[in-house]
Amino acid sequence: MIRFDQVTKRYASGHEALHELSLELGAGEMAFITGHSGAGKSTLLKLIALIERPTRGHVTVNGQNIGAMRQRSVPQHRRGIGMVFQDHRLLMDRSVFDNVALPLVIAGLAREEIGKRVRAALDKVGLLDRDRAAPITLSTGEQQRVGIARAIVAKPAVLIADEPTGNLDPQLSAEIMQLFAEFQQVGTTVVVASHDLPLVKRMGKRVIVLDHGRLLDDFRPGAL
Ligand code: ADP
Ligand code: ADP
Repeated sequence: MIRFDQVTKRYASGHEALHELSLELGAGEMAFITGHSGAGKSTLLKLIALIERPTRGHVTVNGQNIGAMRQRSVPQHRRGIGMVFQDHRLLMDRSVFDNVALPLVIAGLAREEIGKRVRAALDKVGLLDRDRAAPITLSTGEQQRVGIARAIVAKPAVLIADEPTGNLDPQLSAEIMQLFAEFQQVGTTVVVASHDLPLVKRMGKRVIVLDHGRLLDDFRPGAL
């Protein structure tokens, strides 16, 4: 599903965030990306979502070499990828429902279909009864759940998350990670960047360790 072939990413500043990185993730696989701050975790996710392009090497998603993708095809590529951020990036002047509905509104779905899918997404993250609430009235953990509902509402094949538990206490962090594992169980390919190594290890999933833009370790479930 996702393949990195000798990928180097050098930013305009000259800084090399990834160096000749090669890895492969199967469809429906879940992997954590871990490593020190500045190791290249965010950059790896940004390359998958085509927020950044590789300097050298190939990034392949679903059989397509996305590094060569034309700019006008990028929005369509992104619709196949759900993204969750540490700071959840919710629109605070819109209801929970409207935040989750946003990707579907942009995709031009009919109102009735949007309602159905948004309720299904909110149900999955346990927030069906908060659809009319303003995000500001929710707890941090609930706000993160709204961000996750928005990421999965369009049923993306790939779900990526950048430090999704960075602002949460250990109990809530574990719950959020469990939620990601549930999306993997229904066939979604899930990639989560996190520096919380103890939590990541407890999840029993694949763990890819980056160090200064290089692959340091790649632990498979069962081998931990
Ligand atoms: P991580 O997510 O592991 O903390 P990042 O991928 O965010 O690592 O960053 C890797 C390195 O690339 C860091 O040294 C960071 O400062 C640098 N970097 C990230 N984004 C940019 C950018 N847009 N321009 C220049 N350097 C960047
Ligand atoms: P993250 O690790 O989640 O990317 P950061 O706070 O490191 O968060 O980066 C915030 C934004 O600034 C990101 O879009 C990143 O690409 C960019 N950035 C990070 N490091 C640099 C840098 N050295 N020069 C320019 N932009 C950077």
